[in-house]
Amino acid sequence: MKENIVEFKNISIDYPMKKYTLRAVNNVSLNVKRGKITALVGESGSGKTTLSSSLIRCISEPGIIAEGEVIFNSNDGSLINVEKLKEKELRSFRWEKVSMVFQAAQSALNPVLTVRQQFYETLDEHGIKLTKEEKEAKCLKILDFVKLDSKRVIDCYPHELSGGMKQRVMIAFSLLLDPEVIILDEPTTALDVITQHYIFNLLKEINKTMNISMLLMTHDISVVASFADYIAVMYGGRVMEYGSVEEVFKNKLHPYTKGLINATPSIIGNIDDVRPIDGRPPNMLDLPKGCVFSDRCPFAKDICKEKEPETLYKEDGSFIKCHLFLGGEDNGK
Ligand code: SF4
Repeated sequence: MKENIVEFKNISIDYPMKKYTLRAVNNVSLNVKRGKITALVGESGSGKTTLSSSLIRCISEPGIIAEGEVIFNSNDGSLINVEKLKEKELRSFRWEKVSMVFQAAQSALNPVLTVRQQFYETLDEHGIKLTKEEKEAKCLKILDFVKLDSKRVIDCYPHELSGGMKQRVMIAFSLLLDPEVIILDEPTTALDVITQHYIFNLLKEINKTMNISMLLMTHDISVVASFADYIAVMYGGRVMEYGSVEEVFKNKLHPYTKGLINATPSIIGNIDDVRPIDGRPPNMLDLPKGCVFSDRCPFAKDICKEKEPETLYKEDGSFIKCHLFLGGEDNGK
């Protein structure tokens, strides 16, 4: 079985407008390892949601994949080119191979249907043939798994549940059709810190016990350190750095990764040591020439303002996009 369950290959995603085209993701190649948690980290507008949406061909209108492809290497050995799936195949691919937990559980659940009705509807739509008893047993089992009082919650409407309970229902929903990958789009936004911690522990348990690969989108790099196995740091539609969490946090190589880490408060650290990154996230219609981070980077050299850095790959598959790490004439040190 291939080590990578998902391969984004030279993906560029455009939003064509009347007078211009916005390129939200620019020539990104990235792998999601089987059974592991990969985090996409970056500020709003960095391209992480657009990139992960391409995995289920769910890019918001009028976005299109302008270049590249997304390959899914299923656990059953089949290779799926997501772009080539027909509509019917795509409907099964979503939820049966790749499911998603959205950031706002409130709006993701149907307010006029009970949890039971929503779960049964999904099972029926995907043609899962089960008796009434089997359906109930399956739904109760996954609600129990996410540590909810299953017998009570299954007949609740969304408004009868707290924010944390709704998010756990959404996680149970994502497990309903036994997917191989779950996309988690800022899954704990709007939840209090204790519930956030609880949800991340639950997700980690699901990853380990069910061997489900996860692709997590977050702007909170502190979450990544304790939750993910791999990290891809996105900025201006590019992946600036990718590697194992251990390596990236130990070495803190890329100036943007360093900036994100330094901008994160720590419970045990001194608040005066927290340093926000100067400047603002880039205007995607007017990116700086050369390196897209050059107008905010404290290490920027002349070459950074002229030429976009190539990607430097290491033997272990990690990579970095910065002139400081390139040899020869490109070396901006
Ligand atoms: Fe900073 Fe230059 Fe590296 Fe970009 S290429 S991150 S501007 S040092």
